[in-house]
Amino acid sequence: MIYQALYRKYRPLTFEDVIGQRHITNTLSNQIKANKIVHAYLFCGSRGTGKTSTAKIFAKAINCQNNQNGSPCGKCKTCTAMADTVNMDIVEIDAASNNRVDEIRDLREKVKFTPVNGKYKIYIIDEVHMLTDSAYNALLKTLEEPPEHIVFILATTEPHKLPATILSRCVRFDFGLVPVEELTNHLKNIFEKEKITYEEEAVKVIANAGEGSVRDTLSIADSVSAYCGNNITFQKVLEILSLNDNDIYINLANSLFDKDLGKCLEIVDTAYRNGKNMSVFAKDLSVHFRNLLVIKTCKEPNKILVLPENIFKKFSNQAEKLNNLDLMNAMKVFGNIEAELRYALSPKILIETALVSIISNNDLKKN
Ligand SMILES: [Zn+2]
Repeated sequence: MIYQALYRKYRPLTFEDVIGQRHITNTLSNQIKANKIVHAYLFCGSRGTGKTSTAKIFAKAINCQNNQNGSPCGKCKTCTAMADTVNMDIVEIDAASNNRVDEIRDLREKVKFTPVNGKYKIYIIDEVHMLTDSAYNALLKTLEEPPEHIVFILATTEPHKLPATILSRCVRFDFGLVPVEELTNHLKNIFEKEKITYEEEAVKVIANAGEGSVRDTLSIADSVSAYCGNNITFQKVLEILSLNDNDIYINLANSLFDKDLGKCLEIVDTAYRNGKNMSVFAKDLSVHFRNLLVIKTCKEPNKILVLPENIFKKFSNQAEKLNNLDLMNAMKVFGNIEAELRYALSPKILIETALVSIISNNDLKKN
């Protein structure tokens, strides 16, 4: 059987299944029950907090003929039609990737067509802040006079980059980071369904490492279970999460600030070949830069970082050799590629480009 990533396998299908966003899912299911739908919604929040999953559930629920407490029933004619990947009534556009740009360019023409199966045609536009100017204009014109049968769900990790003209036309929902306790419970449920045994402490460490993102937590759980098999122990989780990885990030940061690009690319390539998820890799690397900065600037850094003594020592040794500006620059560059990583066809190239940019930026500063 082909292995299916946990995040895909356990994608929520009803509002009740969405983790940690009760304030939003309650409001949305109430709108469905009361049949009070507006034409444009804006879902904001960090990656992996459930924006797209919620958008998909909402899109189905709007058209469902027999909604169950506001969620799609999954059985009626429209629900079945919508579950089909080629359905015409839910149009998903990733503004961060270029392959659907034409879709939005002729949006104004397309929205005139009525839905095929349900009452509404729903456009889900992910990472909407990355649209081109011409696409924004098309979207804005449509938002000003939306046809009766059209609903837009715009999602973004960076709402501050959206023009006020778009913001003012949307009902906005802010997705918060998912609390560790909820991630822990979610993981335990999944492990039980997967017949994987676990130590309490091990699950907590994984949930912590996910940092509020369901997607990241489950990607980490994927690599942990690939390493541990059906018995997840605290010791093994630490091995895979910190010990091995910390050395990688320490080496990478050393090569980076030594401006040894060749060595940097080699380290990334090795991690890639060892099956490391490149989005998680990029995030872990920014966390490493942040840890070093905390060590350099805070009085009692390990009160904030809570690292095992031997690892804290390793980090402190490295931090001593670096300067704050270089670290801040590196954090900034990796912060900027965070949204793009999700849709990048090759996240590895994005990481490599970021490393090149950090090295050349440091050069410019010094020349
Ligand atoms: Zn239905």
